[in-house]
Amino acid sequence: MDGKGPIAAVVPGSFDPVTSGHLDIIERAAGSFQRVIVAVGANPSKNPMFTLSERCEILHEVCGPFPNVEVDILDGLLVEFARSHGALVIVKGLRAVSDFEYEFQQALMNSHMAPDIETFFLMARPEHLFLSSSLIKNVASLGGPITGLVPPTVERRLLDKIE
Ligand code: ADP
Repeated sequence: MDGKGPIAAVVPGSFDPVTSGHLDIIERAAGSFQRVIVAVGANPSKNPMFTLSERCEILHEVCGPFPNVEVDILDGLLVEFARSHGALVIVKGLRAVSDFEYEFQQALMNSHMAPDIETFFLMARPEHLFLSSSLIKNVASLGGPITGLVPPTVERRLLDKIE
């Protein structure tokens, strides 16, 4: 990195759907790196509610205000995705102890495969600590309030899906 620091970072996830917690991590990454690429994983094993193209479309829409953020589909190894997009940093959000073990394992495996790629962890803001896509989907499907926990477009689309 010859003392200059990395210019591009990847923010990976399944974003099914993107929450205010995810968006905060993307926005903070966009404030720290010249280019941010949001990598949207298909994750069919997670039985997604939104299709991959819907998730990408939503991310394009909510990342619109950040001119240095791009969105692309992740369909292979994350480290290869990062390299092919010219990024040497992976940015992940950490909510609490429960995220730590899994994220630590992933970061170590990625660094084993690609020692030149660093994983940076951003602490979730306290107001987002309890937020996860799956909890949002559960609460919304039971008719609970999700306003403010997801971007307005996600709230509308979730309610449409559930009806
Ligand atoms: P989820 O864990 O909600 O299914 P993803 O798999 O899309 O979401 O998560 C992608 C990344 O976003 C992970 O690094 C995860 O820790 C982070 N993340 C998820 N929810 C939040 C949140 N509420 N605040 C900060 N980071 C989060």
